[in-house]
Amino acid sequence: MNSEEGYKKACGIFPGGVSSPVRAYKAVGGHPVVIRKGSGAYVTDLDGREYIDFVLSFGPLILGHADPDVLAAITDTASRGLSFGALSEPEILLGEAVTRAIPGLERIRFVNSGTEAAMSALRLARAFTGRTRIVKFAGGYHGHSDALLVKAGSGGATFGIPTSAGVPDAVVHDTIVLPYNDTEALRDLFRREGKTVAALILEPVAGNMGVVPPDEEFLMAARDVTQENGALLIADEVITGFRLTYGAAQVLFGMEPDLTLLGKIIGGGMPVGAYGGREDIMRMIAPEGPVYQAGTLSGNPVAMAAGLATLVKLRTPALYSLLEEKARILAEEISRAAQQVGLPLQINRMGSMMTLFFSDRKVTDLASAEHSDVRLFSLFHQEARNEGLLLPPSQFEALFLSTCHDDRVVSEAAARFRRALEKTRA
Ligand code: PLP
Repeated sequence: MNSEEGYKKACGIFPGGVSSPVRAYKAVGGHPVVIRKGSGAYVTDLDGREYIDFVLSFGPLILGHADPDVLAAITDTASRGLSFGALSEPEILLGEAVTRAIPGLERIRFVNSGTEAAMSALRLARAFTGRTRIVKFAGGYHGHSDALLVKAGSGGATFGIPTSAGVPDAVVHDTIVLPYNDTEALRDLFRREGKTVAALILEPVAGNMGVVPPDEEFLMAARDVTQENGALLIADEVITGFRLTYGAAQVLFGMEPDLTLLGKIIGGGMPVGAYGGREDIMRMIAPEGPVYQAGTLSGNPVAMAAGLATLVKLRTPALYSLLEEKARILAEEISRAAQQVGLPLQINRMGSMMTLFFSDRKVTDLASAEHSDVRLFSLFHQEARNEGLLLPPSQFEALFLSTCHDDRVVSEAAARFRRALEKTRA
């Protein structure tokens, strides 16, 4: 089947033809890509068209597609059985690697997705504090569990859905939403109501309203106000974990949360999530404590082996500085091209993640992200696709680079970005 036939068939099977909303390309138009295969920095669709991939499965594939060592670990482990519903060696080794890399992770629990990690950490925080209210930031996305699907970024921002249908009012009532990077609003809320808050959850570098770096003062305030009020601080590092450094972004910013959420990279492209943190809190989880949380496939050995093989490779010296360097060069080239072409473009970048906002204003929170020209973005996205660049199909997502995006790929990509910008302007 070709891509068009595949998508048509999928529309008769799945809502919107997809298994996750952004993949339907509603925000940018055109048929969604239907992928046949990926290799390194490239993917090929069912029509045989090859793209330089900046989606990278929305973040997990920091080593690029089909990394040979990750594949070898998967096949080797799978040859001895796919799932046991019991403790296994790869699970212990990945747990050890992750907890060694992130100092605040005294205990960790593996789950199957970032959504599960966030949902479970919230239950734990409520049990630990005996409180129900939580604080999140507008444009922050922490998966699709009810309590966190309030003014959520990612697909929520793309489709302008403030809160999903089907989420009970009572649940939303306990979720307080503040603007990201607004230290004053944060302090003010905790001054008034801090003693009722179970947890504050945030992405240390926002990635789901597009990339928005934090003010360091804001992150420090998040730590202070939660500590002062007996609320827990949950760092959602599902994107940033092992993306910006070997470990978590919290270490880069000197922010010490009580609980941390992980996913994406620690699964090496397989479905994995995790939550962890202070031992006294994690001891509340069953079977040690009264907070129930379980999973038939949690700690799946094949997924654990993929994550472990990924982490082993990420320990290479200078790997993160090289990734950063490639991303910096690409961002500079794109920025220069946009200026020469005369398009308003703000590039927000942290390490190897970035977003191109079509805006003449600095983007520091959801409101300024939403000031972007989404019509221009969708034109640009189509032109980029015509040039053989696969970009996230929404203004409010991050582009990622992998270790396979080497000098040659980056230089080819920069030329394609330039042509796409020129055609967008025309
Ligand atoms: N947290 C963050 C910061 C995310 O970006 C995502 C997904 O993109 C999630 C949580 C949810 O993870 P998953 O899609 O694996 O459920």
